[in-house]
Amino acid sequence: MNVQELITKKYDKKIADCSTEELYVALLEATKEMAESKVSNAGKKKVYYISAEFLIGKLLSNNLINLGIYDEVKAELAAAGKDLAEIEEFEPEPSLGNGGLGRLAACFVDSIATLGLNGDGVGLNYHFGLFKQVFDHNLQKETPNPWIEEHSWLTKTDICYPVNFGGFTVWSRLYDMDVVGYNNRTTKLRLFDIETVDESIVGDTIDFDKEAIEKNLTLFLYPDDSDDKGRILRVYQQYFMVSNAARLILDEAIVKGSNLYDLADYAVVQINDTHPSMVIPELIRLLQERGMLMEDAINVVSKVCAYTNHTILAEALEKWPIHFLEKAVPQLMPIIRELDNRVRKTVSDESTYIIKDGRVHMAHMDIHYGFSVNGVAYLHTEILKNTELNNFYKLYPEKFNNKTNGITFRRWLMSCNPELSAMITELIGDGWKKDADELEKLGAFLNDEAVLEKLLATKADKKEELAAYLKKTQGMDVNAESIFDIQVKRLHEYKRQQLNVLYIIHKYFEIKAGKKPATPITLFFGAKAAPAYVIAKDIIHAILCLQQVINNDPEVAPYLKVFMVENYNVTMAEKLIPACDISEQISLASKEASGTGNMKFMLNGAVTLGTSDGANVEIAELVGEDNIYVFGEDSETVIARYERGDYCSKDYYEKDEDLKKAVDFLVSDEMMAVGSKENLERLYNELLNKDWFMTFPDYKEYVKAKETAYADYTNRKAWAKKMLVNISKAGFFSSDRTIRQYNEDIWHLGE
Ligand SMILES: *Cc1c(COP(=O)(O)O)cnc(C)c1O
Repeated sequence: MNVQELITKKYDKKIADCSTEELYVALLEATKEMAESKVSNAGKKKVYYISAEFLIGKLLSNNLINLGIYDEVKAELAAAGKDLAEIEEFEPEPSLGNGGLGRLAACFVDSIATLGLNGDGVGLNYHFGLFKQVFDHNLQKETPNPWIEEHSWLTKTDICYPVNFGGFTVWSRLYDMDVVGYNNRTTKLRLFDIETVDESIVGDTIDFDKEAIEKNLTLFLYPDDSDDKGRILRVYQQYFMVSNAARLILDEAIVKGSNLYDLADYAVVQINDTHPSMVIPELIRLLQERGMLMEDAINVVSKVCAYTNHTILAEALEKWPIHFLEKAVPQLMPIIRELDNRVRKTVSDESTYIIKDGRVHMAHMDIHYGFSVNGVAYLHTEILKNTELNNFYKLYPEKFNNKTNGITFRRWLMSCNPELSAMITELIGDGWKKDADELEKLGAFLNDEAVLEKLLATKADKKEELAAYLKKTQGMDVNAESIFDIQVKRLHEYKRQQLNVLYIIHKYFEIKAGKKPATPITLFFGAKAAPAYVIAKDIIHAILCLQQVINNDPEVAPYLKVFMVENYNVTMAEKLIPACDISEQISLASKEASGTGNMKFMLNGAVTLGTSDGANVEIAELVGEDNIYVFGEDSETVIARYERGDYCSKDYYEKDEDLKKAVDFLVSDEMMAVGSKENLERLYNELLNKDWFMTFPDYKEYVKAKETAYADYTNRKAWAKKMLVNISKAGFFSSDRTIRQYNEDIWHLGE
């Protein structure tokens, strides 16, 4: 790409005379055109990865990298006195996802494109996304997050479908976004919107008329479901997503010559968590509409659909009340009833029935009528088979399989950490960019002092960069020489940010008492809490209050600081992760299905401090116990505790003076002076009387593990070795590996 030529054609001036916006728009348009001109795989069979979320992040730099022109564009701009980084800052981050599940979907479409497979992502085009997080008086406030501008990566298509709901019909419109593979072909994200969407019904908050379906359907991802109106809106959204997807799938198969009885030769649907589950009855309905018998339609669809389970948290396994479905999508209920009846006729185990107690169990439908059920990490899949879904496993052992999650190294190393990428390439060549296992070759340098020095220097640079960025954008005073200990992920009790909070209070008391750490410590948090998740928001409040108390205490701040970044998203992750020393992965064992943040940190040379949960287990196996800090009760102990139901947090509180002091501090005068009594007391009472995610039993070991990690950090050479081992073993977590496995075991797409 010749940028000057482009600019001359578009604006008839010099690069140097362009504004950041002009350069951004010109690069966006040119990149979009280049992507469109790449050929996609036009093979017979195609995978449709249907997902409520695609947390794709900004696209300009990533697309330039994948098109192989990043360096030349950057250099040409630099020669004209322009900084590509500034242009990147200008791009709004698409707001189409929420957390790990959405980010996984984004990594997967990147890998599908890079491997040249025939597959699209299918979802919705949310105008305001989840929400934009702002902090106000140490509380999370939610505001709309508009991201679609006049110039965006979306391309409007002519594809529109009528979608029938109970009592009314709406029209959809498909928007495509090209997903560029690394030096390869492209694939598409296919995002359906409602033609009559109306942004003007939303003001400064995320409140809106939840009953104006024709206007609101694609405004927000996961609208507040604390009332029935919000819950039924989610049903409308889900049906809209899958009804459009199902038509697209059938239309594309027919064009390629399918007679629909052979649909499985043309299409495979990956159902990402339960949100797209209604695609099963909807496909059956559409096949019947086209003249197929129910019996045949069910057989066809059962060979097309595969289900990915992402969680064992009961709250996330959707069970919609029948009357919601009767109201929103009455045409599906007879089919769902028939599907349930067939199960009842052949299966004696009532716990697996689809309709129970007036509710439709979406995951049950997926498992009975899909041909594959996969978990997302080894431990998670074992728990599904042996505990959570054991009744289903006994019925269909052959359906269950594991696909340990992965991340795209293009975004999570090449793009966010070009310095480390360059260093790796210098040492082992650039084969790792296509074959991530080649990172193993870094093992040859574990005793090479110059390499270890350089690794530390690269990390130090990224820490400086992050500190400067946080100073500029959020006014934070970060000591770049301190240990960067980072916990960024959605705020949820099972992820246990509250355990980290208790440690911080413990450390605060120690420093107050004169026990100063050898190296100063900075703890970073980043997390959004669901708007209706009261305790999660209380935890954010506690973190922000602690930040204020600690950072303003002259006795403590030189040794310990806390920063919670506002509006944690992919853009922020790309800055935090390369700068991290210690990666906090401290979920309650058995509750984190996989995690992918843990993989991103490892790849960037952070050392994990975590429980034996999700993919942490596989990380520990790969790097060995010297290169990870594992603590806490294991999943079997935790599962047994829940079964016995005898956990009593107060017992721990009363027996451990140090823990008691930390918990009590939540409602201390110091905290009350900067915080709200209601929020802090509620959190305090929750921990003391419930602590459903069992923070207290792991507290002592957590403190100990953290102290060990901080002490080890001071031996810089030994630490650098741990970093290098982590990077060299990260190859397994490339999403290219994950997608190859999906294709080999589930999708069976041709070349
Ligand atoms: C990777 C990622 C996540 C998932 O993090 P986990 O630690 O696996 O929960 C969430 N949000 C963003 C922005 C991410 O990049």
